[in-house]
Amino acid sequence: MNIGIFGGAFNPVHNGHIALAKHYIRSLDLDKLILIPTAVPPHKSGDDLVDGAHRVAMLRLATADIDCCQVSTIELERKGKSYSYDTICQLKKVYPTDKIFMIIGSDQYFYFQNWYRADDILDMVTVVTAAREDNEYADLIEYRALQPNMKNSIVSNFDVLQVSSTQIRKRIAAGESIENLVPRSVNEYIKEHGLYV
Ligand code: ATP
Repeated sequence: MNIGIFGGAFNPVHNGHIALAKHYIRSLDLDKLILIPTAVPPHKSGDDLVDGAHRVAMLRLATADIDCCQVSTIELERKGKSYSYDTICQLKKVYPTDKIFMIIGSDQYFYFQNWYRADDILDMVTVVTAAREDNEYADLIEYRALQPNMKNSIVSNFDVLQVSSTQIRKRIAAGESIENLVPRSVNEYIKEHGLYV
């Protein structure tokens, strides 16, 4: 099986995440895509992080109509800092012979060498990324050429949506609409639970 893993704070999940997920399900011919919300993200302050149960619920709503998607609570259950290395080791035990692709945004790709046990991760999975900003594709290709350990990673030329969870949280706090930035079911959930106000 081809398995994709896509981790993040998902605070909240937005249309950019969903577009990326759908793109890679198609282009990598994934049989399964596992979305993994972090407990405490290693590279972020986490101050305004809503409860994991809310982030899981929003992810489930956002991916309800995408057959091969599954939301995993593996990092929420482990608690503490969520290191992808630990998650991948756990998943490798469940899927020892499958090909695992790890999807990350370009911001994380440029930061990847700072990740805990980056080399070991690159031995276990194929890292895939796409530009988050206009014209970033060339920068990603150039960056990969300078990183010998990332030569097998996949950089795709795909126009991602320029939306971030930070932007969504700011808009909600300012009383602005997020209608076109998140799936409708997620927008309703946020309103119903009074998140990010
Ligand atoms: P925040 O604004 O709170 O930092 P975020 O929008 O970057 O959040 P995360 O949950 O941290 O969202 O993202 C999870 C993963 O998805 C990261 O690898 C990130 O780079 C990637 N990602 C986030 N938004 C997009 C987007 N619009 N297009 C492509 N990748 C994205």
